[in-house]
Parts: sequence; structure tokens; C-alpha cells
Amino acid sequence: MGVAQLDEVNNRIAEAAKRFGPLDDNAPKPKLIAVSKTFAAEDIQPILEAGQVDFGENRVQEAQGKWPTLKEAFPNTVLHLIGPLQTNKVKDAVQLFDVIHSVDREKLAKSLAKEFAATGKNLPVFIQVNIGEEPQKAGIAPEDAVAFVALCQNTYNLDVRGLMCIPPAGEPAAPYFAQLAGLAKQANLNELSMGMSADFDTAVEMGATYVRVGSAIFGQRDYP
Ligand SMILES: *Cc1c(COP(=O)(O)O)cnc(C)c1O
Repeated sequence: MGVAQLDEVNNRIAEAAKRFGPLDDNAPKPKLIAVSKTFAAEDIQPILEAGQVDFGENRVQEAQGKWPTLKEAFPNTVLHLIGPLQTNKVKDAVQLFDVIHSVDREKLAKSLAKEFAATGKNLPVFIQVNIGEEPQKAGIAPEDAVAFVALCQNTYNLDVRGLMCIPPAGEPAAPYFAQLAGLAKQANLNELSMGMSADFDTAVEMGATYVRVGSAIFGQRDYP
């Protein structure tokens, strides 16, 4: 697994983007986030050398172990936090990551705002929506999403770029992607972070601007 798979994923994204419709030149093009969680620096290095810029990790501590060195070697890298963020990890997350995809509660919005004020940073963020309303999953409830976006923007001055979701496993994802796209429109947001190895073609056909693809590039993970 590696660079050949990266090329194939990029080709599939380009094909799916055509099916989404003729993109006007100003519309954001779908971007690939290579999800490198559980993989070691030596697996990530060839993907960086192939020119991949956006990478995703779901744990702050794991990312701290490999990314400072990799980012030094590849300074253009954009590192996305795609997993749940505890408020006691906000300081570390803001130091290492460039985009946060998992803002899902006011306590976290407040904690990020405080850290941004202290550091002078204002990282782009996504609001994670629990699109299937699954009790075990993170994310704001769909019916609260639009108001929560406004709260993050108006009360906490967060630079909210879009919405993110992980649809329920074992069900067709398309209706959930469509629902997320509808919520983003209501909230006046342009970006959609949706689609993983199993369903990224569908996500792009439905307007995803970021797909988060791990195993289709890096191979099967030993643990989730
Ligand atoms: C692991 C992970 C992915 C990538 O999953 P694959 O099925 O390996 O492509 C995408 N999004 C999130 C939030 C993840 O945790």
C-alpha cells in the first residue's frame, strides 16, 4: 500500500467530482485528507514525498509522537484533527494541528476560543454533526447544528468553515451526506468534511469538499 493507492484515490475523486457537476471555478475543489492514524512515520514519508499535503489524525497524543518531525521535513503539510478533542488536550492540539474537524459542544468551543486568544491563532474549524443520531457517536444533534454554528461564530469568534460527519456503519451513506449538505447550506457554510474509504466517491458526488481516506491508501489498520 502507498503511492499507487494514493494515485488511485485521487483519480476516483476527480471522476466523482465530474459526476457532482461542472464545478464553477470559484467552488472549492474536493480535497483528500490522507488519514495516517496508527501508521508509522516510515509509512507516511512516501506519501508526503509523492506530494500529498493534507493529513488526518484522530488522537492528539499519537500525532505528537510522529508529526513534529514530519512537519519539519515537509513544512507545507496541513494536519487535520479528525477525532474527538478533550478540553484538556486543546493546548496541545492547537500547537500541532492546522484544522480541527470535531467541534461538537460549547465547552470545547469556549476552550478553543480561549486558546486562540492566548496564542493569536485562529484555526479553521468544522462542526461535527451526529448525523445518524447514534448515542455512541460524538457530534452535535442535527436539529441543533445550525444554531450551534451561529453560537461558535458569534459568541466565540471561531472560523467555522463547514460541517463534518461520520454516517452510521452498515447503511447507505448517501441520505446522510445529503442531510449534512442541507444543514451546511442552512448555516451558510461552503465546506463539507464527509466520506471515508468505503464511501468517498459517493461523498464527492454529493458535494464533499474534504474526504478523509485512511485504509484505501495505507492498508488495513491493526487497531481501529
Ligand atoms: C479513521 C477515520 C477515517 C478514515 O477511515 P478509513 O475507513 O480508513 O478511510 C475517516 N474519518 C475519521 C473521523 C476517522 O477516525
